[in-house]
Amino acid sequence: MRKTLSNKLIQELSEELGKYSIPFKTGVQLSILCSFKIGGISPLMIEPENKEQLSQTLFILKKDEIPYKVLGGGTNLLISDFPDTFITLRLSGIFKELIEESNGIFNIGAATNTTPIFRKISLMGYTGVEFLSTIPGWVGGAVIQNAGCYGGEIFNFIENVDFIKDGVLQSLPKEKIDFGYRTSQFLKNKDSIITNIKIKVPLGNLEEIELSLKEKRDKRNSSQPENKKSAGSVFKNPSLKDELGNPIKAWWLIDRVGLRGKLQGSAQISPEHCNFIVNLGNAKAQDVLILISEVQEKVHNMFQIHLEREVEYFGEI
Ligand SMILES: Cc1cc2nc3c(=O)[nH]c(=O)nc-3n(C[C@H](O)[C@H](O)[C@H](O)COP(=O)(O)OP(=O)(O)OC[C@H]3O[C@@H](n4cnc5c(N)ncnc54)[C@H](O)[C@@H]3O)c2cc1C
Repeated sequence: MRKTLSNKLIQELSEELGKYSIPFKTGVQLSILCSFKIGGISPLMIEPENKEQLSQTLFILKKDEIPYKVLGGGTNLLISDFPDTFITLRLSGIFKELIEESNGIFNIGAATNTTPIFRKISLMGYTGVEFLSTIPGWVGGAVIQNAGCYGGEIFNFIENVDFIKDGVLQSLPKEKIDFGYRTSQFLKNKDSIITNIKIKVPLGNLEEIELSLKEKRDKRNSSQPENKKSAGSVFKNPSLKDELGNPIKAWWLIDRVGLRGKLQGSAQISPEHCNFIVNLGNAKAQDVLILISEVQEKVHNMFQIHLEREVEYFGEI
């Protein structure tokens, strides 16, 4: 049975957060905070503005063992239609800062927007991170799942990740962090909140950087459904090759089982890029779940391949 948080608990928590001047909102419509534009109302969203407030928030929640989930830019999530069994935590304030510590060494808050921040760093004359300017979401979320595209991934540039775990602020150099294709120890363990990262980026030629930014943006625009409500690729590409040695792509499998364009309520497997599911209007998380299950079942039946989900569930779907 679903264990929803009571009004009394929300009231008590609000009073306690108020004592420490920690920003929060009640009754937050989560659909507007994610790219799918799907999701119900969170009874309480806490928005710590600095590390002290974050530590205090976690202390308050841990004391009564109140479940919580961290929301970033909401671009890799399918949010539950009923996200009322947990508290939503969303970093703000100093976690939105970018600081250039020295030439090419940047300290970036986990709540900064990936696209503008990496465009800005690129236009300052630093090269290699142009691809990150095409990935939506926030920096913390990008680290969690080692976001990447066009042959690059964020961990190529990371020196250090700062995070809070078991109430303690910690920092790990990249060599001590377990990460891989679209994953990291933070995603696997779900026991840490990323607060900021340090990256190192080499200087380059500004003209070439501008060209690279444009090329990547054009490539993105031509290959993905434009201005559609989605959470990007729904499935990871399986690490398998066909008989000619070419990598097998998730979109190809979905196409081959005949699900391109399939509708469920207001959710649709994109006719343009069938590894995307798009929300055509007021789709429910349940509609998307049905499409995801159908894809997995049909692909498994025809190819004996299990398509692993890239999109995460935020709450019970
Ligand atoms: C149109 C579109 C295109 C996309 N293209 C790509 C692509 O090319 N490559 C790619 O890799 N991804 C892509 N994505 C997916 C998505 O943009 C990335 O995964 C992004 O990095 C997620 O960041 P976010 O802030 O939105 O995370 P969210 O979706 O908010 O959260 C994702 C996970 O990270 C956790 N999380 C978020 N912030 C923190 C934190 N500070 N501490 C601890 N946990 C945290 C959340 O709890 C959740 O588990 C695309 C998405 C869309 C909509």
